[in-house]
Amino acid sequence: MPNASMVKEEIMAISAKYGVEVVGWLKLGDDTVIPPDEMGLLEGVKWADGEVDISSIKNPLDILPSARAMIILGKRLMDDKEDIYYRVSDSYTASVEMMLLDIASLKAIECLKRHGFQGEEYTSYYMKAWAVLAGLGWIGKSMMFVSKVHGPRLRLKGVLTDADVGETCEVLSDDRCGECEECMKACPVGAISEEDVDRKKCGSCGLNHFKIKEGAYAYCTACTACCPVGKKHPAKQGHEAQPVSRQRITT
Ligand code: SF4
Ligand code: SF4
Repeated sequence: MPNASMVKEEIMAISAKYGVEVVGWLKLGDDTVIPPDEMGLLEGVKWADGEVDISSIKNPLDILPSARAMIILGKRLMDDKEDIYYRVSDSYTASVEMMLLDIASLKAIECLKRHGFQGEEYTSYYMKAWAVLAGLGWIGKSMMFVSKVHGPRLRLKGVLTDADVGETCEVLSDDRCGECEECMKACPVGAISEEDVDRKKCGSCGLNHFKIKEGAYAYCTACTACCPVGKKHPAKQGHEAQPVSRQRITT
C-alpha cells in the first residue's frame, strides 16, 4: 500500500541533500488552472535572443490528469549580485539553481514511483502563482514572487503527483509589501510602479541577459537584491556593489 507520509519525509530529505531550501505541498483540484488573463502577460516579452515562448505553458491537470498535488521546490539564489544562467544547448538554458532543482525534482519523481505513485515534472512561467496558492509568499510590487523567508530570491520548480500529499494553505495577500518602495527606486529603467511592471521595459534593460562570456548570461538583480524581505547579509548583498554601470542600459 503506497504511503504518502513516508514519501513526504523522503522528498524533504532529497530537497535538503540538493540544497533546496523551500518545499511546498499544494492540493490540486479541477479548478486549479492558470487564470486566462495571466496567459497573455508574457506575450511579446524579449528573451535573450528571441521572445518568450508561451505556447508550451500548460495547466497541471493537462499534464497529469490524476494529479492531486503539486510539490513546489524553491532554491535560493546563490548570490544576490550575480544571477547567472547558462545556455547549455538550444533547448536547455539553466542557472546552477535551476540545475539543482532539475536534479532534486527527478529524484523526487523517482521516489514517488518507487512508492507506487505517479510523478511528473512541472515547469511554467507561472510557478509563482502556484507558490502563492501554496502559502509560500506573495506577489510583490516588482511582480516577483516574494517568499516569506527568502524574498524574491527563489527559483521554483514543480512536481505533480497523484499522492495525497497536498495541503490547503492560507494564501497571503499581495499587499504584504506595505509601504516599501525599494524595488521601484532600484529599477534602472523605472519599469516598476505601484500598479504594475512594464515587462517590455524590463526585458529591454541592458542588465538583463547581459553576456558574461560565451554561453553565460546574467539577469538584472536590481529589484531582487534590494528587497528587504529575506535579505540575510545586507552589507554583502546590496545592489550598490554590483560591478555594472547604467551605461549598459539600452532601452
Ligand atoms: S529586473 Fe531589473 S529592469 Fe527588470 S524590473 Fe527588476 S530592476 Fe527593473
Ligand atoms: S522591495 Fe519592497 S516593494 Fe519590492 S517586492 Fe520587496 S518588499 Fe515588495
